[in-house]
Amino acid sequence: MQEPSSTRVQELVARLRAAGHRLTPQRLAILCSLARGDAHPSAEAIFAEVRALHPMVSLATVYNTIETLKEMGEVLELQFSTGNRYDGRLATPHPHLVCTHCGRIEDVALPALQSAVDAAARHLPFTAAVPRLDFYGICPACRETAPLQNR
Ligand SMILES: [Zn+2]
Ligand SMILES: [Zn+2]
Repeated sequence: MQEPSSTRVQELVARLRAAGHRLTPQRLAILCSLARGDAHPSAEAIFAEVRALHPMVSLATVYNTIETLKEMGEVLELQFSTGNRYDGRLATPHPHLVCTHCGRIEDVALPALQSAVDAAARHLPFTAAVPRLDFYGICPACRETAPLQNR
């Protein structure tokens, strides 16, 4: 059984256990895949990664685990026309950089955004308006290899 590596994984393990969920080795591997790094994986990417370690895991288990964590407010779902991606490290809405070439998604820290969100919350007639902010561009790795017209 894989050891929970990061404190974020340990946090997710604790939350699931406290909510009475059973923690199988497959589930733990899903948590590790969700919470590690800045990758914002798709369910399919998590499935591929976990299946390499646990061949018996099903895509349904991956979706169920994500859904459970989403309902607990521990995973942020980012919907794209190309498919949903997930952030298991930071579940509160935050801005992202999206590479239009390879689909890589990274967090971007914009402290000034919070005051805009607060101002909008004061004026909008909606309750709990959730901001969604994506910046589209070409990531450094793709810029290295992309044809000139994409730079
Ligand atoms: Zn890229
Ligand atoms: Zn993120």
